[in-house]
Amino acid sequence: MRNFGLALLGVAFFAFPASAQQQPQPTPGFVQASNPPATQPQVAPITPGQQRVVDRLQTAALESDRAYDIVEDLVSQVGPRLAGSDAEARAREWAVAMLRANGFTNVHVEPFTLPYWDAMREEAHIISRGLERPMVAAALGGSPSTPAGGLTAEVVRFPDMVALEAAPDSAVAGRIVFIDEHMSRAQDGAGYGVAVRKRGRCAPVAQAKGAAACLIRAVGTDTHRFAHQGGSSRQAQGASLPAMSISPADADVLAYLLTRGAVRVRLDITAEIRENAQSGNVIAEIRGRERPQEIVLLAAHLDSWDMGQGAIDDGSGVAIISAAARLIRDLPRRPRRTIRILLAGAEENGVHGGAAYGRAHATEAANHVVALESDFGAGRVWRFDTQFAEPALPYARAFQRALSPLGVLPGPNQADGGADVSAMKELGVPVVDLSQDGTDYFDHHHTPDDTLYAIDRAELRQNVAAWATFVFLAADSDWTFRAPAQ
Ligand SMILES: [Zn+2]
Repeated sequence: MRNFGLALLGVAFFAFPASAQQQPQPTPGFVQASNPPATQPQVAPITPGQQRVVDRLQTAALESDRAYDIVEDLVSQVGPRLAGSDAEARAREWAVAMLRANGFTNVHVEPFTLPYWDAMREEAHIISRGLERPMVAAALGGSPSTPAGGLTAEVVRFPDMVALEAAPDSAVAGRIVFIDEHMSRAQDGAGYGVAVRKRGRCAPVAQAKGAAACLIRAVGTDTHRFAHQGGSSRQAQGASLPAMSISPADADVLAYLLTRGAVRVRLDITAEIRENAQSGNVIAEIRGRERPQEIVLLAAHLDSWDMGQGAIDDGSGVAIISAAARLIRDLPRRPRRTIRILLAGAEENGVHGGAAYGRAHATEAANHVVALESDFGAGRVWRFDTQFAEPALPYARAFQRALSPLGVLPGPNQADGGADVSAMKELGVPVVDLSQDGTDYFDHHHTPDDTLYAIDRAELRQNVAAWATFVFLAADSDWTFRAPAQ
């Protein structure tokens, strides 16, 4: 609460850097404000010294390809890495070495176990008018195997989950349910939240109505003949139906044929399922110089689906947070608070890494000042969102001002925080989102096209600049983003 009085009295206001080259300048009136009316939004002060550091960090980030080098190394040395696999174990070793090479301290692995799942066979065929032809299909994470020789049944199509939920059991029983819902493209990725429901909900809802299996139009915005991979929460909901996604083009064919008459589909899935597979979170730190017990938590995840290379999901996140922290580590003076990197071992198939971190660090949750995650590809940061207690909003505005030279817009006080830090958020840790432009993220997400070609170096550099800005200011302050103790 210390800096609050100053901010509320309007004594000290953010002074804009003179040296923010090539960046749009803020409206001049803002800098001069010295005694604003009470209704004007208050902005916490950033010291001139901190502002000089921010300028340096932004300039250095925009000139460096370190993040690209990190993700290129991960993709090249390790490649795709399903949670709990040998490849993910290699990714852990790679991460420990990478973090040590970048000069972080307290680099270590925090092991945990998870249920391992991998599809050894994932095939789907349309059977129509006596002909059988393959579709491009992917088994959904957690799907059980089909019986030997596959599972064949008539298909019943629903335009969306709502239609399936409303259907009588008699329309579904014994059939393969096909959810043909399209996903809409949006800068903030909002279409995903809607479209992904079918990935998690199809199997439990269809199973309750007596269905034989689930098929979904792939959750994505592209028109490539890819079936997007993805996990689902259906096991937790007691569902055991085989489930697959099919490419948009195959979904179109299936929908077309169904307008002409009955169509059967054969699904053939062989899944390897193993309890208690080994995984682990990789931790690294820059120890705070004055308040080392206070933690700014930066997260990304090491695991990936295995059709692509895990370059944008989430190699780029690993690279962005590591490169941003490295810039801060290179400063002549460490920030006051500890910066902690969490590279979660397992996110895709059930957020097991974030949950393990939450269990292991629950007792120090109160010491976590703020948490944030980079797990939305490599697109530029376009908006900064917070989830702060109301009295801390002047701090949110200070961050927004510091980020504005990077073209980042102020966002609402409704940040999500992201999956890998969700356990800490539930324990009361404030979160922020450096929201990335996701307009084309779901063209690549969970497909064979999740490769380095989906990364734009300049946008990756802008991410590092935004992360370095927020993380430095959060770690070098004594600001608190929680509600004041009653
Ligand atoms: Zn991810």
